[in-house]
This record gives sequence, C-alpha cells and structure tokens, in this order.
Amino acid sequence: MYYDNNTIIFLNGNWEKASEAKGDLYSQTLHYGNGVFEGIRSYETPSGAQIFKARDHYKRLMHSAERMNIKLPYTVEDFIDLSYKLLKKNKLKNAYIRPLIYKGAHLALTPTTGVNIMIAAWVWPQYLGGERVKVMISSYQRPNPKSIPIDAKITGTYANSILATEEAKSKGFDEALLLDSDGFIAEGSGENFFLEKDGVLLTPPLGNILPGITRATVIEMARKLNFPIIETQIRPEEIKGADAAFFTGTAAEIAGIKSIDSVEFTTPWEDTMGYSLFLTYRNRVTQNEFKDFTLV
Ligand code: PMP
Repeated sequence: MYYDNNTIIFLNGNWEKASEAKGDLYSQTLHYGNGVFEGIRSYETPSGAQIFKARDHYKRLMHSAERMNIKLPYTVEDFIDLSYKLLKKNKLKNAYIRPLIYKGAHLALTPTTGVNIMIAAWVWPQYLGGERVKVMISSYQRPNPKSIPIDAKITGTYANSILATEEAKSKGFDEALLLDSDGFIAEGSGENFFLEKDGVLLTPPLGNILPGITRATVIEMARKLNFPIIETQIRPEEIKGADAAFFTGTAAEIAGIKSIDSVEFTTPWEDTMGYSLFLTYRNRVTQNEFKDFTLV
C-alpha cells in the first residue's frame, strides 16, 4: 500500500528505491520514539500538483525538531523543493507526503547528534473513510504538555493515539476523542475537534492539542463565511444537545461525526456548518487557492 518496487523515497540526500532503502535497527528513534515527522497532502489542481500549505507544514516540522533539540540541515524551502521532486519522481498528484526525522544508532538515553531524513509519498484516501464516524470518549488522556511538547509531532507521542484507537475499535467505534489532563476535550487520535452548538462553532484552544494546520484553515474559512466561532475549553457534558461535530486533519480532511458515546447528532450533516466547511475546504485544496490562505 505504501510502496511497490518502483517507489522512490528521499533518504539522507539520495533518491532511493523504497524497497531497497535501509534503516538502522539500533536507531534511538525506533527504541524510544524521539523522532519528529509531518503529514502533508498534495492535490491535483488546474495548475498541476500543489502541496497544501507546504510552508506551514515544514515550519511545524522545524518547530517539532527544535522542541526535540534536533538540528536540521535543510530549510523550509529545501524541504518544499524536495517534496515536489519526490511527487514528480513517483508521478503522484493526489498524495500524502510523510517526512520523518530519525536518529541513528544510540541506545543510551542521552543526546545524540546524527539525524536521518526520509521523505516518502503515497496515495492515501481520506483517513476516516469519508463517512460520518462513531466516536467514543477515550479512557486515555492526551499527554500532559509538561511531560512532552504536545505542540510538536513527535513519533513517540503517537503510542498514545494508537492505544486510544485500539480501544475505540475494540468497542465498535471508529475513532477516539481524548480529553486533556484537566478533563476538557482535547482532540482525536490524529485530528482536531469542532462542536456545533446553538449556531456557534466551538473548538478547544491551543495548549493541550496539536496546533492543526487544517484547524487553522477551518477557523479562517469559518470567519470568512461569517460562522460564529470560538476557541474555548469544552467539557464532555457540553456535547449533550449539540447539533453536530467534526474532526479536522490533513489526512482526515473534514470528517463529520455521527455520534459520541453512542449519542447521535440528529441534525442532518448536509444542514450543518461543518458540511459547508467540508465543501469549502475541498474547493480550496483542489482549486489552487492556497496562497491567500497560507499563514504567515
Ligand atoms: N491532532 C493530532 C494529534 C494530529 O496528529 C493531527 C495530524 N497532524 C492533527 C491534530 C491535525 O493536524 P493537521 O491539520 O495539521 O494535519
């Protein structure tokens, strides 16, 4: 699914066949999870393949690396250039791009300087499947930002996400919604969360969540569409009586939520602000209207 015999990846300055590329089993990242990564999408547009908000994603990668004391030998512009080359080499237009920064062989719990940079791309359909999803409130909390930088995409943090989705799937749900350590709603396993209540969109503020690039896009689009939107802490009890909810993320795009803990949202999805935002987002990413929406 991710690669075949013809797939090319970027690895440490070289273009290599994914099926032949080698990684080090003694990598500190493999053992302890101290790598950083990004999840980016490119779309086929009238002016060719365009990477949506490439600059914002690579700025976040730089930020994640900084938070983990990893020095990167490339600039944001270098990474963007490499990503377009990667798409071309693999003849991809609608694709998911995964840059991963990982450490070399070092199994002490001490700093090590060498870094490896790989970038891969593949075709990945909308992550949560395109249907409204059944969500459970997870028994797992998102990690406390005083334990690990939560505003960075750190490989090890995703063990928390995997535990939460495993729990949700084992109970017949599609996705988990995790609370923060103060009991407020934080985010999904790999998505930010929005609730629609009394004509207002509510979304958790930055602090205990990953600052999603799709989240920022949705907030901008909502303001342009004159949808009232506030960033505020939400208690799980407040979901009761809400009209709708949705997840946002690069992989998931905008994914409607059917129910939370088996309580269904009764407003038809097509009548919600979430659905209008979903349509606007699809339009934006496929119509080459990126520039005016890129955050500076
Ligand atoms: N929260 C988490 C934990 C994530 O992994 C992601 C995916 N990167 C998101 C939110 C959404 O972020 P973005 O919109 O930038 O993809």
